[in-house]
Amino acid sequence: MTKTLEAFLHEGLASLKEQGLYNTIDVLEAHNGPIIKINGRELINLASNNYLGFANRDELKAADQAATQKWGVGAGAVRPINGTLQIHQDLEAKIAEFKGTEAAIAFQSGFNCNMGAISAVMTKNDAILSDELNHASIIDGCRLSGAKIIRIKHQDMADLEEKAKAATESGLYEKVMYITDGVFSMDGDVANLPEAVKIAEKYQLITYVDDAHGSGVMGHGKGTVKHFGLQDKIDFQMGTLSKAIGVVGGYVAGTQELIDWLKVRGRPFLFSTSLTPGSVAACITALDLIMAHPEYVDQLWENADYFKAKLKAVGFKVAKSETPITPVILGDEQLTQKFSQALVANGVYAKPIVFPTVPLGTGRIRNMPSATHTKAMLDEAVTVYEKVGRELGII
Ligand SMILES: *Cc1c(COP(=O)(O)O)cnc(C)c1O
Repeated sequence: MTKTLEAFLHEGLASLKEQGLYNTIDVLEAHNGPIIKINGRELINLASNNYLGFANRDELKAADQAATQKWGVGAGAVRPINGTLQIHQDLEAKIAEFKGTEAAIAFQSGFNCNMGAISAVMTKNDAILSDELNHASIIDGCRLSGAKIIRIKHQDMADLEEKAKAATESGLYEKVMYITDGVFSMDGDVANLPEAVKIAEKYQLITYVDDAHGSGVMGHGKGTVKHFGLQDKIDFQMGTLSKAIGVVGGYVAGTQELIDWLKVRGRPFLFSTSLTPGSVAACITALDLIMAHPEYVDQLWENADYFKAKLKAVGFKVAKSETPITPVILGDEQLTQKFSQALVANGVYAKPIVFPTVPLGTGRIRNMPSATHTKAMLDEAVTVYEKVGRELGII
């Protein structure tokens, strides 16, 4: 006899709960800002990706409302049928301007962008060299493509070179791609793109950078590729409209031919209804704001540097982060969970990240300071960290 769905679900849930891996979801009772409200309590929020506070910004809300009035709440169809409204075109032109490329294509999310874009270009005749800490959506996109996936040790350029050489000289593959996060979301380290580009040029690799955590953050907001001045060297500049941009959606910026191809082969673009007019308008406004106001991004970095320095000063081990992502490394998984609960009890909302998301024994609390936190909020968060750290014998 095969297993019933009921048995599968029941056993699966029980097993997750037993291992402490069953995640309950907190519900916010107001917008996702520097202070959030959960169960009637106000907490300093260090868990969201809303780097610039754009998720609740007045200019974006106004643009969303105006576009909804003008264009309606839905696009009405998938892009190639008749779900391409003028503002979808405007958004793509804006993204290309933002990224310094010939063209861009927008998807409904960063996740489905990776699923669609990787599999539009890579096939079972190809190989993909993929950093072992790449985001889940990259991993799934690579799997979907059917290409041979070759794991690269995290940020290990010698390993990349060795495997690039082996893959290209093997004669087994038609094309070979190197794919990496621009900023790694769990440690906050930045991809070594200058070195990776050298290797890519030597072995004629296709290059794909997922800059979900770099756009609006690195390169005065324009991203990690721009930070290194490599706009002409990276084939796919992928990003999301849901983090610093504050709304929803994903994109690839690149050459006109690449975008032409993705518009006929990117399956979420072809078969899933396009972004809502309101979201599109809000994204355009966000990109305009970032381009016109570098001080928003500067404020994010100032807050992040301030918060990191204070955490270190009271004795916490902050991982080798080079970006606002601020992981406080605690090690033990149980301790990490306990620490996070104590933070919440004391008014600070920050998420524990443990195995299997990160290696065993490297449990951490991941903090995401934003441009909209005040110094007083960050000071208060550090005070709570210090209190909890002493109570749990960490500092
Ligand atoms: C968040 C994230 C995504 C997914 O983006 P969404 O727009 O939220 O779907 C993709 N890649 C990376 C590296 C991310 O951090």
